[in-house]
Amino acid sequence: MQGSQVCGSDATKPFMNLASLLARAAQTTPDTPALALGYTVIATYAEHAEHSARLAGALTGIPELTPGDRVAIAMKNAPEYSEIMFGAWHAGLAAVPMNARLHPREFAYILENSGAKICFVSEDMAAGIADAAKDVPTLEHIVIAGSARYREMLSAEPVAIADVHADDLAWLFYTSGTTGRPKGAMLTHKNLRAMNDAYFANVDDIQSRDCVIHAAPYSHGSGLYMLPHVERGACQVVPASSGFDPDEIFDLLTVWKGSTFFFAPTMVTRLINAPGLAAADTSNLKTIVYGGAPMYAEDCLKALDLLGPKLVQIYGQGESPMTITALSRAVHMDRDHPHYHDRLASVGPAQKGVEVRIADEDDNDLPLGEIGEILVRGDVVMKGYWQNPEASAASLRGGWLHTGDMGALDGAGFLTLKDRSKDVIISGGSNVYPREVEEVLLRHNGVLECSVIGRPHPDWGEEIVAFVVPKAGADVREVELDALCLEHIARFKRPKAYRMIDALPKNNYGKVLKTDLRELAE
Ligand code: AMP
Repeated sequence: MQGSQVCGSDATKPFMNLASLLARAAQTTPDTPALALGYTVIATYAEHAEHSARLAGALTGIPELTPGDRVAIAMKNAPEYSEIMFGAWHAGLAAVPMNARLHPREFAYILENSGAKICFVSEDMAAGIADAAKDVPTLEHIVIAGSARYREMLSAEPVAIADVHADDLAWLFYTSGTTGRPKGAMLTHKNLRAMNDAYFANVDDIQSRDCVIHAAPYSHGSGLYMLPHVERGACQVVPASSGFDPDEIFDLLTVWKGSTFFFAPTMVTRLINAPGLAAADTSNLKTIVYGGAPMYAEDCLKALDLLGPKLVQIYGQGESPMTITALSRAVHMDRDHPHYHDRLASVGPAQKGVEVRIADEDDNDLPLGEIGEILVRGDVVMKGYWQNPEASAASLRGGWLHTGDMGALDGAGFLTLKDRSKDVIISGGSNVYPREVEEVLLRHNGVLECSVIGRPHPDWGEEIVAFVVPKAGADVREVELDALCLEHIARFKRPKAYRMIDALPKNNYGKVLKTDLRELAE
């Protein structure tokens, strides 16, 4: 297969193509809704599987496309997303979902780097992608989802599901790149099957007639969770707005039963602070899986109070999709446990099939409780970075994924994250973990969001600066924030300066851009 740098022992082992998840659901639950836009069912499972098999037929008929080739997707959330993903897998091709909010230059970079020969786009993005792709000679076809050409593809002769090997590329997942160029994490059919199995073991159960509502991008966690839902014949619902709007979500919940969402923590916070929540009936809300960035204990407790036992946390990264650890629904609700608050501030124990250890800079194991880099091993870990052997070798050295995240394990196997290694502040020779300070500042009733960073200082190396977003109309005073810090954490961890701002800079997946804050602070 093209682009392989890391050859595992599974390289030549035949493996079940992910497309067979859809084919099986179409056999067992043919008449069940599979895809919906807003309230409207667009396709049953039988129809979804037929569309994808025909699309695969059309893709197989394009002479330039050979097995393992990449199929790029530049689309806002839409029901066609799932048709295209499964169609690509069915044809033995790999999908390259791109975040719809990327900059044209970022699209051009990914299109060129992935070498995709075909790109599916939503109508509103067609002109932008055509423009971005002007200097990308490898891209030969741009197909607008829902267009006449797309419909023609859906009427091609269906083909049989392509044979794949365990290590064949299924999803080229470009990291969100909060610093530097994004890298393509190669996720194979085996990796995504491992993710799927872990979902059922550690995250949630799913029944046919349940649904996943994609209010977060298909190109990231929400799209990855397409797989367990398709396996169980549950419906994938795309909001009419194609994005996240609390009022629309409350509306959809009046219709769609057994609903699951994947949210970044900021989306959970926005949902529970939405004025519409008070009047909303959330009984159809089954599960919110959250992750991708820190969830502060205060926000989590508030969400549990307002929504009930509906939260599950996952910790993962593009390189180990959605699957390193999970904090179960049961742990969220075990309020009498002596370590409840510590557990709520953790990301839980390792998921099924995943080994986690904490290591020093030389990859030596550290004792329980000590903070070091989080290393991960298991079938879910990526095969390597696309066409980047140096980065692959560095990241996977010794057979362990080096996450770049710092954390500590307790005796029961619960992992607590301590920020990315590059976000740790070193002030006067002591390490300060921003999250610890942020947790304290959030105890203030008037604080909506905050982020803590280090600013260069001639004497101490770095000094601590807190960016604080007050809630609408709230009066947040520095002396109060300072008093909170004095009450809860060591004096040297107190911010030396506070900046009140209207909003924190975030990337397309809701992660706070600390690099931007560092520039602002200087
Ligand atoms: P991405 O590859 O875009 O999914 O980003 C992965 C990174 O997000 C991880 O390496 C962590 O730094 C962060 N992250 C993921 N899940 C969590 C979580 N539950 N809590 C805190 N940070 C998280």
